[in-house]
Amino acid sequence: MRSLLAMSPEQLAQTSDCTLPEARRVLAWVLSEGQCDLDAMKRPVSKAKRAQLLRDFHWSLPQVIETIEDPVDHSLRFLFRLEDGALVEAVRIPLHKPGRFSVCLSSQVGCAMGCDFCATGRLGLKRNLQAWEMVGCWLQVRAHTQGQVSGAVFMGQGEPFHNYEPVIAACQVLSRPSGGRIPAAGITISTVGLVPQIRRYTAEQHPYRLIVSLSSAQQEQRAQLMPVAGKYQLSELFSALKERYERSGERVTLAWVLLGGLNDDPAQVSALKRQLDGLPITLNLIDVNEAREQGYRRSTETERARFVDQLATLGLPFVRRYSVGLESNSACGMLASKRS
Ligand code: SF4
Repeated sequence: MRSLLAMSPEQLAQTSDCTLPEARRVLAWVLSEGQCDLDAMKRPVSKAKRAQLLRDFHWSLPQVIETIEDPVDHSLRFLFRLEDGALVEAVRIPLHKPGRFSVCLSSQVGCAMGCDFCATGRLGLKRNLQAWEMVGCWLQVRAHTQGQVSGAVFMGQGEPFHNYEPVIAACQVLSRPSGGRIPAAGITISTVGLVPQIRRYTAEQHPYRLIVSLSSAQQEQRAQLMPVAGKYQLSELFSALKERYERSGERVTLAWVLLGGLNDDPAQVSALKRQLDGLPITLNLIDVNEAREQGYRRSTETERARFVDQLATLGLPFVRRYSVGLESNSACGMLASKRS
């Protein structure tokens, strides 16, 4: 049975007896209003069409089996069980404006990328999430929220561009007027730097924000931290990012997980400046979360200050990002499908 949760009105009209306006109304009822009773629609479709929708489609949501609130920042970690028993997380993130939230979504069960500073990377890839499962997780978070859920970031378990088409389909549903009604600028996809997919994303001109996780401007070190760098060299990655800038005119956002004593040396900033060769960027600085027992450590205040000073000296804009969910093990790199 197909899920309604990842369908466009056009697809629903083509695969059911509904007209296009009726398909829009049905999807808006289920997705935008979060309702499951088609009989209760304000302008219901005919009884025969409702019966067909009930017979041929489902709109069930992933099952929430646990929620844990972080006592410090009040982010809320959701653990979902999917139909095949697989477990994934989402994290509801409070935004600066009271009563407004975004949701960090998983795109895969586990991850194949094996980044050395990430707990998810140790799971290996179990499977991709389907678009309706990602949308379903978002809808469940919204259903458990008093306030407005106005964003989505694909930074949970998985590499979104390793599951490209379902992730884009989920973004389209989440941003559609008959879907999640999130502004396109409120949706962010974060990638470790899969070059062919970055090129495809640029060519397809999707409106969602893109963040590329860099974390080192030295090829050898990056390949040690992020095995993907062994496949796509920094030179190829920056060439794809330059193409993207030339095509979109948008400053490129890079993420840098600061690893104490490893990639927080001012020499890294100089290496980055050379690699950029004039490409305008913003660097998101994120402290590593000590997810591994024998893992990395956070930069000291002195190390971080030296790094930041060098960024300022070389004229590279940066923003310090703070991971939510440290106390509830739901911060960046800590999601590993564990029950509390
Ligand atoms: S950081 Fe992202 S891409 Fe890397 S292993 Fe973790 S989940 Fe996968």
